[in-house]
Amino acid sequence: MSISTQRLVILGAAESGVGAALLGKQQGWDVFVSDGGVIKSHFKETLQQKGIEFEEGVHTMDKILNATCLVKSPGISEKVAIMKQVRAAGIEVCSEIEFGFRYKGDSKIIAITGSNGKSTTTKLTYTILKNAEYDVAMVGNIGYSFARQIAEQPCKWYVMEISSFQLDDTHRFRPDVAVLLNITPDHLDRYDYVFDNYVASKFRITKQQTAADYFIVNKDDNVIKEFITTQSIHATTIYFTMNENNTGNEGGYISNDRLHIDFDGENLDMSIHDLSLKGKHNQYNSMAAGISARIAGVRKEKLRETFSGFRGLEHRLEYVATIRGIEFINDSKATNVNSVWFALESMKKPVVLILGGQDKGNDYAEILELVKEKVKAIVCMGIDNTPIHTAFDSAVDVIMDTANAQDAVHAAYSLAESGDVVLLAPACASFDLFKNYEDRGVQFKEAVKNL
Ligand code: ADP
Repeated sequence: MSISTQRLVILGAAESGVGAALLGKQQGWDVFVSDGGVIKSHFKETLQQKGIEFEEGVHTMDKILNATCLVKSPGISEKVAIMKQVRAAGIEVCSEIEFGFRYKGDSKIIAITGSNGKSTTTKLTYTILKNAEYDVAMVGNIGYSFARQIAEQPCKWYVMEISSFQLDDTHRFRPDVAVLLNITPDHLDRYDYVFDNYVASKFRITKQQTAADYFIVNKDDNVIKEFITTQSIHATTIYFTMNENNTGNEGGYISNDRLHIDFDGENLDMSIHDLSLKGKHNQYNSMAAGISARIAGVRKEKLRETFSGFRGLEHRLEYVATIRGIEFINDSKATNVNSVWFALESMKKPVVLILGGQDKGNDYAEILELVKEKVKAIVCMGIDNTPIHTAFDSAVDVIMDTANAQDAVHAAYSLAESGDVVLLAPACASFDLFKNYEDRGVQFKEAVKNL
């Protein structure tokens, strides 16, 4: 069969689907895009401009089940009826990054996954390479999709943020450098509530790697530690850790408040106080980014420069303002308990914590000790705050209920004193009261500015 007769069907017309459609069209596939919901107008315009056939609000099975290859949006679960039909028909299913991989040419990929810290580490790694004047793009969950970037502006290097969903349908995807930051329970609804399935999905990032590739791994993560022994890993594995002085081994470690990155005979040694990103979690992220950049050939001076000047991302421990001595921090992206642990861990002042939203079956026991130690009051911001009361009523003297950002900020402001910090770190999804975590963060910042 010649390539021009091959049919590429794409389910879901958002960034990854449209990216795959653009690349498929460019490569001569007969492309059809089907979205069961409403397609955003700018995506629709892009498809129209390129003459790509699409439908919305419906899935026409006759036009789908004749696919040679099907790319599904990472948002679509295997459990929906259409996927069952696609599987029953034996159609090859691949994720958008897998499709992009076929056309990446001799470019190199640094792929980053984990339960927390993906966006930060991706942006940091990208920024180091950019500052070192590499021809590099940041793709995946952040920025353009990989496929669109290849179609529109191919680069020599791609720094890619990957979720477990995007790893699920990869077969040949083989990053030159793969990073696994950490694994804590998340998205279990998509994995039949079997944690091992989620873990296995994360490890797919290294599945196709060979000894010429690098797998950069958090040595302190208990889940990774346990699972890694059961995997056959072919890549050259490099660790980062905070628990041991790793001198002599290639990798990253923290010792006496100094961050070290050793690779290829070069040692970066800098004070953790000179890192612009604060908190232990960001020391992990910095080690992972730094090792990746060293493997890519960036010299240590450039690492140091970027580490000290890097501005974090919006909604991740983002400083908002100081009002009458009270500091306000927006960590709206802290949507699970583990990220709140790291946020609290990095706080140096008494905390008024704004917590809550749509609970994902949270186990708050993980942060109970830190809350007792650092939190003077909790402001709940959600429709159902029962789980927070259950977890903290006996641990924290003051817990107030609110149901919007403005009330939450006012309540926190009235509870805080000069020298305190008000931290928005909800540990929950935002969909009960907000469009998404960005909307929640923006409304929080607006409310602070209006105080
Ligand atoms: P992701 O893209 O994986 O969701 P982000 O970089 O957007 O990660 O950060 C999400 C949240 O997790 C933020 O609240 C941030 O403060 C916290 N976080 C960042 N890096 C880590 C890490 N290495 N471990 C735990 N929490 C982290």
